[in-house]
Amino acid sequence: MKNVFQNLALIFMLLALGISCSSDDSANTTDDGDDGEVTELHAAFAAFNTDATTIYLDGSNVVIETTGLPDHETVYWGVGHELYREEPDVQLTPSIMSSNNNAVTLTVDATPDLSGSTVATNFNTIGIAVSGASIFNDQEGGGPLDQAAASLDWTGAHIGPGVYHYHLEPKAFSDDDDALVGVLLDGVFLYGRQCSSTGTYPTDLDVSGGHTSTTQYTDGEEEYHYHIINEVYSTTGSYIAFAGPYQGY
Ligand SMILES: [Zn+2]
Ligand SMILES: [Zn+2]
Repeated sequence: MKNVFQNLALIFMLLALGISCSSDDSANTTDDGDDGEVTELHAAFAAFNTDATTIYLDGSNVVIETTGLPDHETVYWGVGHELYREEPDVQLTPSIMSSNNNAVTLTVDATPDLSGSTVATNFNTIGIAVSGASIFNDQEGGGPLDQAAASLDWTGAHIGPGVYHYHLEPKAFSDDDDALVGVLLDGVFLYGRQCSSTGTYPTDLDVSGGHTSTTQYTDGEEEYHYHIINEVYSTTGSYIAFAGPYQGY
C-alpha cells in the first residue's frame, strides 16, 4: 500500500508541475497580447502643435486631425497676418494661405509594419509635421521639385495648388539638428539630419533615410525612424524632407 501512495503522490506532483508549466505558458501569451495592444500615444506626439492638431488612438491606429496651419512665420500667411514674414525673393504661388482649406485628417499605424516591403510616396500629403502643416515628397505636379523651387519659402514650403506643405528641411523647427520633424503616412517618425543617439549625422541609413536606434522620445528603446538625408538637393541649397519609399506599410 505504501508504494501505491508514493506513486499517487508522484502522479500528483507531476500533475501539479504540468499545471504550473501550462499556466506559465498562458501567462506569457497574455503578456505578448498586452504588448501588441496599443494603449497610449507614442511620446513623440507630445511635440506636435496643439493649436493645429488633435491626435488620438483609434484601435491600432493613430488619427491626426490638423487645421494644416503652421505655428511659424512665412510669406504665405499674407500681409497683415501676425506671422507674415517678408520674403521678397520668393516667387509666390497664387493662393494665400488664409483663403485655403488646409485641413487634413490622417490615419496612421500606431505600430509600423516593418516587414521589409516598401511603398512609393505619392504626390500629396505624405506626412504631418510637428507644426501642423503637411509634408510632401521630392515631386511637384508629377515633375521634379526644382521646377518649383523658386516658390519655396525660408522653411522649404509653399502652397501649390492645395495645402501649405514642406518639401525641404523645415528650418522653422529643424535646422541641421536632431529635432522631430513629423510622422509619415506609414506611422514612422521623421527626424532632422542628425540623430540624438550619436549627436551627429547617421552613417547607417537605408534608401529611405531610415535606421534603428534610440531617439529622444523612445526612453532608451531602439526604434526604426527616418532622417532628412544630409545631401543638398539640386539648386535649392537645402535638403529634401523625404523622398521615399515608405518602409512601414
Ligand atoms: Zn509643392
Ligand atoms: Zn536616428
